Amino acid sequence: MSQTRFNSTENLVPFRPLSADDVIALVNRALSAGNSMHTTTYKFAFFKSLLDNVFNVNLDTMRLSYDSLAARFTEIYWNLVLKYHIRQQIPTSQHEMTSVEKELSDFCAKYGFPFADKESIFPFESLKSDLQLEIIKKIRIVMMRYVVAAFCGDTDDQFYHFDKKNDKDAITLNRAVYTALVKYKSIFEKQNYYEWIKYLEKANLEEDAYALAGKLDSSTERENLNTYREILEDFDRPRCFYCGHLLETENRNEPVDHFIPWSFVKDDKLWNFVLSCPHCNSRKSNILPDKQYFQTIKERNIKLVNVDHPIVQRDFKNYSYFRLEEMWQSAVFNGFECGWKR
Ligand SMILES: [Zn+2]
Repeated sequence: MSQTRFNSTENLVPFRPLSADDVIALVNRALSAGNSMHTTTYKFAFFKSLLDNVFNVNLDTMRLSYDSLAARFTEIYWNLVLKYHIRQQIPTSQHEMTSVEKELSDFCAKYGFPFADKESIFPFESLKSDLQLEIIKKIRIVMMRYVVAAFCGDTDDQFYHFDKKNDKDAITLNRAVYTALVKYKSIFEKQNYYEWIKYLEKANLEEDAYALAGKLDSSTERENLNTYREILEDFDRPRCFYCGHLLETENRNEPVDHFIPWSFVKDDKLWNFVLSCPHCNSRKSNILPDKQYFQTIKERNIKLVNVDHPIVQRDFKNYSYFRLEEMWQSAVFNGFECGWKR
């Protein structure tokens, strides 16, 4: 029986030994209707934040920072609410908006951004970084107050430990849960979208389910990878990682390729990026690279980690070569085609 309520300040209940089936049962239970958070979409956005961040969990300590979770949680809501105008709550007599929508509305009013039904706003990635940090800080408070404990309670206190008073930095995942989240990543993601859409359809009568699914899936996809391109160009003579052709870098428009496809990882990390020629990039598309490229990217990352740049330091924090292999294996299990070579 769950001890945790949405306003609990901690969950330090010892973890039971869980099999993969046990974790699946907990996910099924947490995502099904009729529990503590059925009036908003918070649990779905939080579970997506967990899944998108699973390769940012520290492998030794199992810690995952609130900063990473809140950044993703904010980006999801910014894009869904402001870019796609998808309501996150069925309006009731007491509440017109969720606390997250209220924060976004206040933020838009402060900076003169539109917050109207039909007016689209730029994606989160285009917001200046100091403003990104400002809104993440606000949304993080909502997430800490209403979601962290409630979601944990819905998993029978087994997903993670947290202690809001004494540890303001991170949750500590149950290692059995981590293993299952990695293994079943795309499967859980689709299940989460399905339950999320069932809710969103009630609050957004004019949207059809297929359009909603596309919007949920692209809510964290970034168009602009220039920062990564610049770091990779400066690091070495710019060549296509796959075919070795020298790249024209004057126009700065050669593709930055996710080595393990974005559609699986749902995250942007420098150690998973390579420069590519347009030809190789379009042919590889969503296919997993052949194992022959692993040695090359392993050696590249051993050197790249030494580059003195804040993004390198940030992105490599929880990197290990093992992680790339783990991602590859899991993507194969989740149905991704593998073995692409030029
Ligand atoms: Zn190429």
